[in-house]
Amino acid sequence: MLVLSDELSKLKNMCESKVKLYAKLGIYTINDLLWHIPRGYMDFTSPVKIKDAKIDELIAVRGKVIDKQWSQKRNLIIYTVLITDGEDELQVKIFNAKQMFHALAFGAEFIFWGKITRVFDAQIMQLRSFARVAPGLTMRPIYGMTAGLASWMIAVNVREVLTRITDLPGFVPPEMAIERGLLELKPAFATIHFPANRELLADARSRLMLEELIDFNLGILKLRAGRCRESLVCVQDCDLTAFYGAVGFKLTLAQERTIEEVVLNIKGGQIVSRLVQGDVGCGKTVVAAAIIYLLCKNGYQAAIMAPTEMLAAQHYNNLAGLFSRLGVTVALLSGGVAVGQKKKILERLAVGEIHCVVGTSALLAEAVEFARLGLVVTDEQHKFGVNQRKKLGEKGMEPHTLIMSATPIPRTLAMMLYGDLDISVINELPPGRLPVKSCFVDSSRRQQVYAFIKKELNKKHQVYIVCPLVEEDGDSDGELVDDDGLKKVVSQAEQLQSSIFKEFKIGFVHGRMRRTEKNKVMQDFKENRIHILVSTTVIEVGIDIPNATVILIENAERFGLAQLHQLRGRIGRSNLQSYCILLSDSRSELIQKRLAFVAAHPNGFEIAEFDLKTRGPGEFLGTRQHGAMRFKIADPYDLELLSLARNIAQKCF
Ligand code: ADP
Ligand code: MG
Repeated sequence: MLVLSDELSKLKNMCESKVKLYAKLGIYTINDLLWHIPRGYMDFTSPVKIKDAKIDELIAVRGKVIDKQWSQKRNLIIYTVLITDGEDELQVKIFNAKQMFHALAFGAEFIFWGKITRVFDAQIMQLRSFARVAPGLTMRPIYGMTAGLASWMIAVNVREVLTRITDLPGFVPPEMAIERGLLELKPAFATIHFPANRELLADARSRLMLEELIDFNLGILKLRAGRCRESLVCVQDCDLTAFYGAVGFKLTLAQERTIEEVVLNIKGGQIVSRLVQGDVGCGKTVVAAAIIYLLCKNGYQAAIMAPTEMLAAQHYNNLAGLFSRLGVTVALLSGGVAVGQKKKILERLAVGEIHCVVGTSALLAEAVEFARLGLVVTDEQHKFGVNQRKKLGEKGMEPHTLIMSATPIPRTLAMMLYGDLDISVINELPPGRLPVKSCFVDSSRRQQVYAFIKKELNKKHQVYIVCPLVEEDGDSDGELVDDDGLKKVVSQAEQLQSSIFKEFKIGFVHGRMRRTEKNKVMQDFKENRIHILVSTTVIEVGIDIPNATVILIENAERFGLAQLHQLRGRIGRSNLQSYCILLSDSRSELIQKRLAFVAAHPNGFEIAEFDLKTRGPGEFLGTRQHGAMRFKIADPYDLELLSLARNIAQKCF
């Protein structure tokens, strides 16, 4: 029998190299594997008629093979199978998959699963998978993968877990489960991984969502219980005059109010645990800087944690500039810092010579010690989990914590999600900001788009071009290791440089470049030596280059809506008119509707609501479904389920 805490190596179909691949996905234990929820399904249970097949969506059609051919283009062999459903015919293309081709026997009937695209007047399907028509066809899981670990391999491991696992109690008390007709946890897992049909899937989803939300609420309750109200951090001098003098602009009322709210806590001797919420570009960094300054001035140390190395570097550069005028020493500590240098920084932190340290989650490493840690700032909190929040807090003597977030969520929801925190809202942009103009176009307009970009470049403004990666994963910059995607960034940059934008300088960044390289490119872009920056989503959060006025997002259909809004937040950060261009050739009606909505709505909050309403479970709408929080399955916008979870958590606690 297996138990949840067992390591993956206990499984039969497991080897060391696979264990490593799983580790890349953050999966170490049986529990992690069960919670590796499929991101979609190949649904063989409900094929549609060929004439009803929607363009550009993954679907299943049922048909009989009536013709087979193959052709070769350089290294690529394309196999084509012609099928009919009795009314219409459809060409099904298979790339380089001889075995598939041979298995599709003449005259036999299959369910074909793939994406239908339109090529001139003809419709073709790009085949992903197929199954012979037979009773008992099911849905097969598709997992977020990493190179070398295909969905079917993961499925094999999950099946083994499901047959060997002991019963799973879960958090929901049995009488309540019966009363509400909730599934037990084990069948819920069995169904989420291998659903027999869509109806059963829905039940399993809500059961697991509930479980995850209860777990989340328990975490919050623990945090709150562990939070002692009275602070040992003693701040006497709350004078910010020198700070305001050094900043170089006048703070908005909302920024000042937020700072005052924090100062009031500090003066009152309470421990600050505050979420600072405000849409992209409202100026959260300077608020954090003010509080960091206060603590350092009073002899304490502060840590600021960013979700990506690039953002950490940016914070470091900005704070180092600002604080050099104020006598506060700052250091950068992230994955890329050389060993010798790191050692020195750690030593100086431990004796209190460094006042403020900036870093990524590397700051959570055990070796980091502080002399007098008084404040922890977490930037762009939605990328960090509750546990990470807690871990850093444990390093000091109950330090103050500030959490900066651009996640647009209603106040009531924020109060539940961040039940352990006070909340400040910055509801005002710095003066003179013009709303970003957005549009959604297909590639027939590409030349026009480039011409427009050129006009902006001629005004000495700068441009981002963002390309999607196919998958996501957890390397230091939160992106997936996807070689095709990376190649695309590099080749796109080269191609544009050598053709249409010859007279301008184009640079590129992606998550796999070395830190020094990345920083150099970002610095060059910041100082306008690079005019167009082609990048992956590494620039998604926090990056602040006010002179950039255009962001062109390629294959916009591949991004989640919250993500698009975050990306758009990279521009409109000065008094210049800025433009966001969403480019997509997707013919899916739903995707078009969603992109058009983002283009028409500047407000992150409206987008989040629309997002919730228009995405169905298990649909492939961008890689990051939950822009708001990193839940595995739960949707934090489901207020009803969230409050049920809260009630149960309170009873269990
Ligand atoms: P975000 O809230 O998205 O983190 P930032 O803190 O990066 O925003 O600020 C966005 C930009 O606006 C930065 O270039 C910052 O220097 C500038 N900024 C912030 N506050 C003000 C202000 N009150 N007046 C003018 N510019 C400001
Ligand atoms: Mg920011």
